[in-house]
Amino acid sequence: MTAATKYVTTVGVEVHVELSTRTKMFCSCLNAPQDVPPNHATCPVCLGLPGALPVINKEAVRLGIRAALALNCQINETIWFERKNYIYPDLVKGYQISQYVQPLGEWGHVTITGDDGNEKKIVIRRLHLEEDTSKLTHVDGATLIDVNRCSTPLMEIVTEPVLHSGREAEEYVRKLRAILVYNGISRCRLQRGEMRVEANVSIAPVGSTELGTRTEIKNQAGFNHMRSAIEYEVVRHAEVLESGGKLIQQTMGWDDVNQKTFPQRSKENAHDYRYFPEPDLPSARISPEWVQGERDTMPATYEEYIAQLSEKGLPDVDIEALSRNDALGFLRVAVGANQDKTVLMAKRLVKDVFSLVNSTNVPLDEAKLTPEAFRGAVLLHEGGKINADGFRRVLDILYKNGGDPEAVAKAEDLIIEQNDDAVREAIATVLVEAKKMVDEYKSGKVAVRNAIFGRVMKALNKKGDPKAVGQLLDEMLGPPEA
Ligand code: ADP
Ligand code: MG
Ligand code: ZN
Repeated sequence: MTAATKYVTTVGVEVHVELSTRTKMFCSCLNAPQDVPPNHATCPVCLGLPGALPVINKEAVRLGIRAALALNCQINETIWFERKNYIYPDLVKGYQISQYVQPLGEWGHVTITGDDGNEKKIVIRRLHLEEDTSKLTHVDGATLIDVNRCSTPLMEIVTEPVLHSGREAEEYVRKLRAILVYNGISRCRLQRGEMRVEANVSIAPVGSTELGTRTEIKNQAGFNHMRSAIEYEVVRHAEVLESGGKLIQQTMGWDDVNQKTFPQRSKENAHDYRYFPEPDLPSARISPEWVQGERDTMPATYEEYIAQLSEKGLPDVDIEALSRNDALGFLRVAVGANQDKTVLMAKRLVKDVFSLVNSTNVPLDEAKLTPEAFRGAVLLHEGGKINADGFRRVLDILYKNGGDPEAVAKAEDLIIEQNDDAVREAIATVLVEAKKMVDEYKSGKVAVRNAIFGRVMKALNKKGDPKAVGQLLDEMLGPPEA
């Protein structure tokens, strides 16, 4: 029996996600840690000054409820917060306000395709709210602290140990991320640390009723790194056990250059956090009416939305591209009430916006283009106010700089000339200037009409509505003489 068939792999995943709220978890400082200079989004509460009192951010709880609903969790009617005490420079208060005994949500699931090819429900044990820590930057032997991120709303989502490979773990975190982004709970930008993943790995002999000793792999840079690290640990665990050694429970890091894990710290379990109920915060009631209200305003689930797009006739390749680029939530918001424009907007996203993703090297979730502005640009084009060239130009500017589509179109002088007199005047001028072509056309060389049309469009600075201009041109040109 080889090590690969002798042992079963078990993985449990802990995910931290920063919530997209306007303000921090327990104070009114802005939750925009990277958009203001370091240490500019702080106040006595998040600096932990004596006497300052925290207040629960209702919007964070609301997003937590929506996350719990999207992940099929049960929601506890009464929740409270605990202090988790530990000493680390990123924690200015000396403790983190978190949830321990009674999390916001419990016993949810995310569906993935298991290694055996069947649908598999990955059980979520708990979903709780807490506050993020400060950001430490180590330079030249010194450590810089930025308190902007301290106390921004954080959600932790923990699975049962039910994943059985690096591949299953990777599919789970990708799906989880897609659901959270789609539902507008977090932007989950890995490059900004808005989603951070820790995987716990153990192996046990086939048939064993107990799980083996686990190691925890910290915050990898990407989901593929997490998978590689899990697969590496599985082999390493088997080697230790096969050689008669004993595994120690410890935290590992992933060295992507050398494709191996390395120990970071040990005896994680020996931590005594001395949890106790946060005395400065009351418990909160999550009324069934509140939960129902959120449920009623949730969009179709991620899976349902994909099915709807398919029913509306959007080809699988486009759906696949939208989901790969995490753009389903963007599309849903952009479409808004314009349901009949769903397929059109989806196609414009895939064709025109994704080409900007490539040409600018800026991912959609870092771009200045909002779903609302995208909708505005599409509707300007649909309504005949800008032509195809104008649409692409407006989109390009919105993608890089943001702004209002109509204002951009005006500033760039792209609004189509809808004044018939102005168009007639341009045509009349061209007909005189291009007399030679007009004569050719008249004598039966009808193909030259396209060249004349091009001259007119150019004279209109490309702002003409091609259909309307074509009609007026044909009218003024008259039929060729037979
Ligand atoms: P901690 O409090 O140390 O983070 P938890 O009991 O909350 O530990 O578990 C953290 C994660 O580790 C969970 O996702 C859980 O499913 C997973 N886990 C626990 N024990 C094991 C094990 N032996 N093998 C693999 N995963 C495990
Ligand atoms: Mg842990
Ligand atoms: Zn503050």
